Amino acid sequence: MVKMQPYVKMWYDYLEEGKIMGLKCKKCGAYEFPPVPVCNSCSGTDLEWVEMKGTGKLISFSIMQLMDKVQVKYGRRYIGQVQLTEGPAFTATLEDFDLNKREELYDRLPADVNLGIMQFDGFKFVSFKLKD
Ligand SMILES: [Zn+2]
Repeated sequence: MVKMQPYVKMWYDYLEEGKIMGLKCKKCGAYEFPPVPVCNSCSGTDLEWVEMKGTGKLISFSIMQLMDKVQVKYGRRYIGQVQLTEGPAFTATLEDFDLNKREELYDRLPADVNLGIMQFDGFKFVSFKLKD
């Protein structure tokens, strides 16, 4: 069993409830996503949980070949860098896009995306899908 810091556990608990949450600095208004307890913009430590808009832009991607037991279920998949509407960028899995169409995906960059929640080995993770 993985031992999580309290704010990390809260993040996963929110995902179980279907909510994609981040932390917002009360001092300068910057967002931290995934959540960290200290603001990267002003070093403030007074942050509050806020629901993220769930939108952003895919700015880069690669195809990852998983080489552990997870591969049995997922094998190869896209991993992308998403710049959220609120500012932070994070890395996540792209769902529902053909692995053989990577040049089409490249041509669409920066592509508008919606965040989603993906079940993965007993945890829920933030993923994303392309907007139509
Ligand atoms: Zn701040």
